[in-house]
Amino acid sequence: MSNFNRRHFIKVAASVTAVGIAGCTTLPKLKAEKRVVVIGGGAGGATAAKYIRKNDPTIEVTLIEAHKYHYTCFMSNEVIGGERSIQSIKFSYDKLAGYGINIVHDLAIEIEPISKKVTTRNGDVFYYDRLVVAPGIDFKWNEVEGYDPQIASIKIPHAWKAGSQTILLRKQLEAMQDGGTVIISVPRRPFRCHPGPYERASLIAHYLKTHKPASKVLILEPSKTFAQQKLFVQAWKRLYGFGTKNSLIDWLPAAEGGKVSELDAKNMIIHSTSGEQHKADVINLIPPQQAGNIAVVSDLVNGSGWCPVHHQTFESMRYKDIHVIGDASIAKPMPKSGYSANSQAKVCAIAIVRALQGKEMLTPNFLNACYAVLGKDYAISVAAVYKLENNKITFKGAGGLSPMDASEEVRRRELLYAHSWYNNITQDIFE
Ligand SMILES: Cc1cc2nc3c(=O)[nH]c(=O)nc-3n(C[C@H](O)[C@H](O)[C@H](O)COP(=O)(O)OP(=O)(O)OC[C@H]3O[C@@H](n4cnc5c(N)ncnc54)[C@H](O)[C@@H]3O)c2cc1C
Repeated sequence: MSNFNRRHFIKVAASVTAVGIAGCTTLPKLKAEKRVVVIGGGAGGATAAKYIRKNDPTIEVTLIEAHKYHYTCFMSNEVIGGERSIQSIKFSYDKLAGYGINIVHDLAIEIEPISKKVTTRNGDVFYYDRLVVAPGIDFKWNEVEGYDPQIASIKIPHAWKAGSQTILLRKQLEAMQDGGTVIISVPRRPFRCHPGPYERASLIAHYLKTHKPASKVLILEPSKTFAQQKLFVQAWKRLYGFGTKNSLIDWLPAAEGGKVSELDAKNMIIHSTSGEQHKADVINLIPPQQAGNIAVVSDLVNGSGWCPVHHQTFESMRYKDIHVIGDASIAKPMPKSGYSANSQAKVCAIAIVRALQGKEMLTPNFLNACYAVLGKDYAISVAAVYKLENNKITFKGAGGLSPMDASEEVRRRELLYAHSWYNNITQDIFE
């Protein structure tokens, strides 16, 4: 990371992490005077539940999570590329239970902000003093004609929530004949993890290069440019012959037919808004996105489909005592990433603990670092520290991007850092 003030980043990272009490011991469930309910046990919600308990074990915390296991989206592209197993991105909630968190595996279907209660699909009701809503994303299904959740689950996976569709996409790549075409259709912004589609294209190209070299990946782009484009293009030129007639990756911007309007799933054809047709053997169509459904039906979103929040506490601008963190929240300029969700969760946890203890609010810093794995011994990254100014998150000036023209050794080390980051953050979230 050039232009990157590492010392400053590490100092802030340490101070943000230090909001918790060091060490993980089993915390007893005490008789609670205050109750916090958390909806969603991903990067944001699981972190928030854990850090509330760590900072005040007298608060009763209930985590409502729809699934028994969480598969992280981060590093799921490595599963699709065949570089790691699905088991290696699978996490249970057993260790979080050790903090005295009441784990409930159910779907939250209703929030009542006046009576301050959450109802689940099984009919259970949970009352709260503070509620954390961290449901991640859901999809705007009506924006691409011919695409729906059923088709996504059996034939045209988006794999933008990790799990069964990650496995399906991997199996489709394995089954594809050499000489086949894989389409990745990028959604319009904002969406979860802006570098994610291009990381995915790179890791699929890596698989094709070693197993099906006559095949290719076609990226359909609804914009003119994309995140960290120069670094990606340099990697594609170095690794996959980008720009040559034998390139393993082609990229079509909107003006050249990259903006998708319709899917013909039966014939495996994608239609663009400008009239082009793209035929493929494997299609990975990533639909446009909005906040997770529970946030939408609970009126926590504005017209954009995302949730406006006060950045000092992540309390909703629409309902008191409800906080929204992670991808569902509007936290620009922070990206929608796992690291952002984890950082926001710690700030939110401290704000809730202090509010319930009757203490004044603190002024937070936030962090993000995103790695993208692009091939064998090759990764890049972007990192930033953010501060609060006039009650808005602003870029603080510390941070940076991997340098262009870096040596093979630098790219190799970034891959090691990427894997080390993954081990650390998943431990911080789930253990
Ligand atoms: C391919 C890909 C690669 C990525 N790579 C990176 C990366 O390298 N680095 C990075 O930092 N980020 C990365 N991300 C982004 C990251 O995965 C998300 O930003 C992050 O997971 C957001 O956390 P969250 O808590 O908001 O949502 P999630 O982690 O999705 O968690 C939401 C949870 O809420 C649960 N839930 C939803 N609704 C309900 C309900 N009503 N009741 C109960 N439970 C519910 C869900 O089951 C889920 O477990 C990547 C994303 C993708 C798709």
